[in-house]
Amino acid sequence: DVIQENYVRNVRNCIFSIVYPTPFKSRVRLVAVSEEVLENILDLDRSVKGTSDFLQFVSGGKVLLGSVPLAHRYGGHQFGSWAGQLGDGRAHLMGVYTNRHGERWELQLKGSGKTPYSRNGDGRAVLRSSLREFLCSEAMHYLGIPTSRAASLVVSDDDVWRDQFYNGNIKKERGAIVLRLAKSWFRIGSLEILAHSGELDLQRRLLDFIIQEHFPSIAMNDSNRYLEFFSTVVSETANLIALWMSVGFAHGVCNTDNFSLLSITIDYGPFGFMDSYDPNFVPNTSDDEKRYKIGNQANVGLFNLSKLLQALKPLLDPRQKQLASQILEGYGEHYYSRFTELFKTKLGFLGENEDDSYLIAFLLKLMEDTKADFTMTFRHLSEITEDELKELHIPEEFWALQDLAKHKLFSEWVTMYLLRLNRNKGDSDTKRRTRMTTVNPRYILRNWMAESAVQKAHLNDFSEVHLLQQILQHPFQKQQAAEKAGYSLRPPVWAKDLKVSCSS
Ligand code: AMP
Ligand code: MG
Ligand code: MG
Repeated sequence: DVIQENYVRNVRNCIFSIVYPTPFKSRVRLVAVSEEVLENILDLDRSVKGTSDFLQFVSGGKVLLGSVPLAHRYGGHQFGSWAGQLGDGRAHLMGVYTNRHGERWELQLKGSGKTPYSRNGDGRAVLRSSLREFLCSEAMHYLGIPTSRAASLVVSDDDVWRDQFYNGNIKKERGAIVLRLAKSWFRIGSLEILAHSGELDLQRRLLDFIIQEHFPSIAMNDSNRYLEFFSTVVSETANLIALWMSVGFAHGVCNTDNFSLLSITIDYGPFGFMDSYDPNFVPNTSDDEKRYKIGNQANVGLFNLSKLLQALKPLLDPRQKQLASQILEGYGEHYYSRFTELFKTKLGFLGENEDDSYLIAFLLKLMEDTKADFTMTFRHLSEITEDELKELHIPEEFWALQDLAKHKLFSEWVTMYLLRLNRNKGDSDTKRRTRMTTVNPRYILRNWMAESAVQKAHLNDFSEVHLLQQILQHPFQKQQAAEKAGYSLRPPVWAKDLKVSCSS
């Protein structure tokens, strides 16, 4: 269901509005492309990036023949409260592409101009935030975390004005556009808005469409298909958040409109990877209540799923409603078992042992007390030998472990850890280290690294964007260029003062 009326307003009885991108007025230049996305998702030769047709398409200057650009109508709960109509306020769905592997990908421009859902916004995105989305969504993919992808990033010379939330000034920045891809961009808020406005026929049709397209294991003639759908979203959301936690990723704006029904990471804004381990880490400086702090993400996942359930209820009979509540109650267990499994793997454990959860929690507590670096503690544990650990002799290169070793209970934890490693069947220290280095990244997109690339990009020097792009494609592999750039060193002092917010 599609509506074609382009002014900003409250839209009813539709899922999409037809609306064309607004081309930039000034020249645009290509900042970066993901060649892997071009070749393996879009079946394009990488040389396409040099053509003017490509530049035109990815900057919203030209719509492909037969394409009808759409903005999606959705709502959502923002920071705990129902926010009403939100929708694609600065994004255009340009089409769906089925590639040679038979995968169906939705192509969306972000930052491409106003839509009926722009509310007070200008429909634009600035270089700073677009660069962060481009780099991080690709980095997450290579970390093995379900996510939207990014094909390209362009910047224009068009002025875009943004608040500087920390000093109240406004600053002139440049408009940018990311071409991003997902199997589907539907969110919890896609169903919520239809439930809230009582458009139940439309809601049923949308839900059936989503199940048919994206949940092939659910039979369309199954009268419990909405329950099965809900059950899948519950367990996959738990899985996704456990994965976020396993790499120290905080999304920053876990509103229901930013939570995908396919349980992939979407809508990168004021996200952050934590440096020092801290359950209270909040990446978004505008999040005053610390609602979306890293240690609260699992709870917020539950809140969001309860809002999804609320939206589904009008489509369920009384018995199904009761079953759905039971499914939701299972969320905590899904999350906890996935979290434990991931952290066991991070610590190199094979098989089962009743003390495993204790060992994980013990380590996290030591990290919290010593402010040890989250990523590098696990990485250094993957690189250090058992003999070095046994003697409590921590070589200087393992700086995160040296920090951890300052804790008076460190040696106690190490003793337990080594005993546990000895229980691994058919293992050796070499095998353990090989295994652990394939799950504990050496490089993540730390805020300071993104910021450094942004600063250079503002001067049209995109070299660090390209460097980061290349390095983050192999986050588990030690790389000379990354070492030279200091990407596995202690974050610089100025990293602590960096601020990111929703104003992007
Ligand atoms: P977010 O929290 O970034 O996911 O965005 C929440 C809502 O605000 C979505 O409906 C966005 O489309 C909309 N939005 C954010 N920035 C802009 C902008 N510059 N212009 C129009 N809409 C925007
Ligand atoms: Mg969003
Ligand atoms: Mg955003």
